Amino acid sequence: MAFSLRIRRYLVIFLITGWAISLAYFLLHSKKPRQPPEAPVRLYRDNRLLMGTFWEVVSPRKESGPIVFTEVKRIENLLSKYLPDSEVSLLNRAGKLKATPDTFYVLKRAKEFWQESSGAFDITIAPLVELWGFTGQKYNLPSEDSIKAALKLVGCDKIILHEKDNVVEFKFPGMKIDLGAIGKGFAVDCAVKILKENGIDSCLINAGGQIYALGDKSGSCWKVAIQDPRRQEISGTLELKDQSVSTSGDYEQFFFKDGKRYCHIINPKSGYPVNSGITSVTIVADSALEADALSTAVFVLGKEKGEELLKKFPRVTARIL
Ligand code: FAD
Ligand code: MG
Repeated sequence: MAFSLRIRRYLVIFLITGWAISLAYFLLHSKKPRQPPEAPVRLYRDNRLLMGTFWEVVSPRKESGPIVFTEVKRIENLLSKYLPDSEVSLLNRAGKLKATPDTFYVLKRAKEFWQESSGAFDITIAPLVELWGFTGQKYNLPSEDSIKAALKLVGCDKIILHEKDNVVEFKFPGMKIDLGAIGKGFAVDCAVKILKENGIDSCLINAGGQIYALGDKSGSCWKVAIQDPRRQEISGTLELKDQSVSTSGDYEQFFFKDGKRYCHIINPKSGYPVNSGITSVTIVADSALEADALSTAVFVLGKEKGEELLKKFPRVTARIL
């Protein structure tokens, strides 16, 4: 009798302790919510046609697209030679303009790149771009005389910048500017500035091949593929964070005549489309404006002189194909 009593007593103690342990285990684990496996961060994609090219915005914040496109449109309305009422078009018609700070800043930076690149980067190239038909894709081979005449209007030394009141003046009638090689980069930098002001720290902007990677993509760098211009395949990838990559090449806008390729980047010294033995220049820089302008300048200068120029920009990396 006593034996079974003792067993019963042990059994009860065993059951109570078992119950208490399972209760404690349940309470402990039910408090800590079970962490769901790291859900991949959702990325929003948005694209728009602006400045004659496709823009794409990728970001974990849905509002990034509209913020970028609104700012880029504002800059396009200032700098586009294709819009009749832009500041650039007003200046190209009148030869003199009191510019807004944004436009004046771009012209100042453009003149600096003209200086640094010994005239290879030159926004006064517009008369030649038009002469070769690259503005409206009506390509043609101009006569020697018409090239010589247009060359007389080329050279940033012919642009006068009055810093005190943001007035821009051309020295000769008929001069025109074309911001095709720096305006997109500037627009990207302006958009990045507005994203940051809105507290957005992760976004990829692709402006027709000109890329800016803001921050990182949920902890890892943004990965950007580089296209091989001739074989139309991926020839490498870059990992970017708070940097811009820009490529200039002879394969974006060009035409063939009698078996010879004529591209949209013009040598301001000869007046002819560049034929410097390179097919593309890819530049990685902290700002999109710098990447944009330098990729064009190095493309015009060719490998040796281009590498000389890049020594003045130690934070910039380049790939010359
Ligand atoms: P880059 O190498 O960056 O620039 C080449 C362009 O720069 C050439 O197309 C020419 O315009 C100019 N350029 C040529 N030689 C030189 C030189 N030696 N130095 C400096 N510049 C030179 N295109 C359209 O078809 N429709 C549009 O409505 C339109 N709107 C635009 C609005 C803005 C504000 C800007 C900046 C460009 C616009 N474009 C438009 C132009 C189009 O975006 C260009 O083809 C593009 O800018 C070329 O850029 P890229 O990076 O391919 O080449
Ligand atoms: Mg460019």
